[in-house]
Amino acid sequence: MLPFKLVYSDDYYLPIGSHVFPAEKYRLIHKRLLESGLAEPGDFVTPQPASDEDVLLVHTREYVRKLKTGTLSATEEMQMEVPYSPELVKAFWLAAGGSILAADLALRSGVGINIGGGFHHAFPDHGEGFCVVHDVAVAIKRMHHEGKIMRAMIVDLDVHDGNGTAAIFPPRENPGNLPSSGSIRHDLRRTMSDLNLHGPSDGELEVFTISMHQAHNYPAYKPPSSIDVHLPDATNDEEYLGWLDQALSSAFRHFDPELICFIAGADPYKEDQLGGLALTIDGLKRRDELVFKVAKTRNIPVMVTYAGGYAHRVDDTVTIHCNTVQAAKEIFGAS
Ligand SMILES: [Zn+2]
Repeated sequence: MLPFKLVYSDDYYLPIGSHVFPAEKYRLIHKRLLESGLAEPGDFVTPQPASDEDVLLVHTREYVRKLKTGTLSATEEMQMEVPYSPELVKAFWLAAGGSILAADLALRSGVGINIGGGFHHAFPDHGEGFCVVHDVAVAIKRMHHEGKIMRAMIVDLDVHDGNGTAAIFPPRENPGNLPSSGSIRHDLRRTMSDLNLHGPSDGELEVFTISMHQAHNYPAYKPPSSIDVHLPDATNDEEYLGWLDQALSSAFRHFDPELICFIAGADPYKEDQLGGLALTIDGLKRRDELVFKVAKTRNIPVMVTYAGGYAHRVDDTVTIHCNTVQAAKEIFGAS
């Protein structure tokens, strides 16, 4: 048995037809986890769909109504970049329910992994870039709504900027508390910019956001996160891990979260069709280990979502996502 639970449903599959997003990856990851012996059936828990009230903690009533009634405009549907259907909406409500469950499991037992989710391009009033509902934001807001957390940190390591996240949890400039921001920028050779301390934006809830992404990639406009690391093309394992280490160190100097939400995109991989970084499969596993080690050392619960992954070989994407579970097992299984 794994020392944590995996949240999964066969219904995570997205009914989007032939698409660069490999919608079958969730079922393939589930299968590989079982066949490799890394997980057993008892390690999995099945989520319930988020309620409309949960989704409305993040998204506008108008947008939710359009999704539920199939009345998005052609432009809005095009911007989502996935074909609308009632089944698609169901799958996104379920992914959000999965992230709520993963966050809850993390708060109870230290770790919760959603074998899905991570739809960080969804905005309160519209979907973008294959993302319809921002499941991670929904999970954070729900945990806050239940009085379980006041402070969350999002560590977004997908190759694409977390623009939806930044729109939902905009950072608040607080230069008075940034004595070291000059040196941080210098240390990161000007690829890290806009260190903003994030203050309360939703009553008592505070969310600190890190987005480490390829600078020259989607989306064209990248709204500021608390920490943005704009990586140059072809960043390799060692460079990436160095920047991640510095981003995490500076984040924890400024913020003390009760929950870490790790968005573990598989698309920083060197053979990704939609990415331009140069990480290896091994480098991505070391990335995951680094995040988990930080969470464990600081005794902060961590929930994981999977986000993107568009390797030429779907098999590689599956391996990278399964390795996230392997990394968590190695870090949290050891006492
Ligand atoms: Zn991505």
